[in-house]
Amino acid sequence: MDNDFYEFLGVSQDASQSEIKKAYRQLAMKYHPDRNPGDNEAEEKFKAAAEAYEILGDPEKRSIYDRYGIDGIRNSGYRGPGNFDDIFSSFSDIFSDFFGFGGPSGGRRRNSGPAQGNDLRYDLSISFMDAVHGVEKVIELSKRETCWTCEGTGLRPGCQKQTCTTCHGQGQVIRNQGPFRLSTTCPNCRGEGEIITDPCNDCNGAGLIAKPKKVSLKIPAGVDTGAKMLLRNEGEGGRRGGPSGDLYVVIHVEPHELFERHEYDIYCELPISIAQAALGDKIEVPTVHGKATLKIPKGTQSGSRFTLKSEGVPQLRGSGRGNMIVEAKVVTPTNLTEKQKDLLKEFQAIEKEKGDSEEEGFFKKIFHFSA
Ligand SMILES: [Zn+2]
Ligand SMILES: [Zn+2]
Repeated sequence: MDNDFYEFLGVSQDASQSEIKKAYRQLAMKYHPDRNPGDNEAEEKFKAAAEAYEILGDPEKRSIYDRYGIDGIRNSGYRGPGNFDDIFSSFSDIFSDFFGFGGPSGGRRRNSGPAQGNDLRYDLSISFMDAVHGVEKVIELSKRETCWTCEGTGLRPGCQKQTCTTCHGQGQVIRNQGPFRLSTTCPNCRGEGEIITDPCNDCNGAGLIAKPKKVSLKIPAGVDTGAKMLLRNEGEGGRRGGPSGDLYVVIHVEPHELFERHEYDIYCELPISIAQAALGDKIEVPTVHGKATLKIPKGTQSGSRFTLKSEGVPQLRGSGRGNMIVEAKVVTPTNLTEKQKDLLKEFQAIEKEKGDSEEEGFFKKIFHFSA
C-alpha cells in the first residue's frame, strides 16, 4: 500500500524530485480531461496522478508518506483531492477551513519549470429553499485552460526556445552602478534564460487559452452563506505541464420573505386573531418542508414561541434537522362588521363586570407600586 503512489507514477521509491515531476507531467498530459472528454477512467487517473504528485512532489509530505503511508498524510491534515462528481460526498472535507485561498502548499514552481494554474473563486447565489434542500447547479466559468497544441509551453510544436541574447541564458543581468554590481532579473526573458521566437499559433505563446467551461456542482442540503466548496483542478490551467489550479465556490444564500434562518433552525412569525389567541386553535403553518399543524393553547400571548421539532434545516454533517420556531403575533382586527362590534362591546361589558380587564389590572399594579 505504501508504494502505491510511486507505482502509480511509475517511479522508484528513491526517485529524484525532477523524475517525479516528469512522471507526473506525462500522466497529466495523457489523462487530461480536455484530451479525454467523457472518459471517466481517464478522469480518475488524472485525479489520482494529481494526488500522487501533490504528495510526492512535496518533499515534506513525501517524507511523511514514506514513513507513515497515506494514513500519516491524512493525520497531518491533508484531505486528498475531491472528485468532480462526488466532490461533496464528504462534507467535512470540503467545508473544512483547512483549505485557504492560495492553493496547495506544494508551492509555485520556478519560472522555467511547470507552473501550477491560478486558483479561481466563484461566488454563487442560491435561493433560500435551494440551500435548505440542496440543489444541483451548473456554473459557467470563463477561464484560461492549458493550450494543448503546445502543451502549455507557448512554443510552436517542433520549435525550440532560443537562448536569450541579453543575458546569454543566465536569467540575470549584472549592472555596474558606481562601486556596486547589481544583479537583476533579465528583462528580456524575465529570468527564464530562454525566449520563445516561434510562439504557438493557438495561444500566441501564452501557453493558456481562454475557454468558457461549464462545471456542475452538487450543493448539499443545509449549506449556508459563507460555505466554501473546493473543486480540485477546476481552476486555471497549468503551464508547461503544471497542474491546474483549484476552484473555490463560495455560497451566498438569498433571504426568504417568510422564513428566517439561524444555524439549522427556522424562525417564522404567525399572525393569529384575538379569538384564536384567547380560545386556542389548531393552525396549519407553512414550513420549509411543506405544512405542519400547530396547536396553540388558549390564552396565547403575542410573542409566545412554539417549537415544531425537526421542521428546520437538514444538518450538513450527520443526520437530523433543526427545529422550526413559530412566534405568535396577535393581530387586532380592523374591519369589523356591526355584529362583531356588538359582540365586542358585550365582551367588554362583561369584562368590566368581572373586574378583571387588562386595564384594571394595570391600574391596580400602579397604585400598588406607588402606595
Ligand atoms: Zn535573458
Ligand atoms: Zn499554445
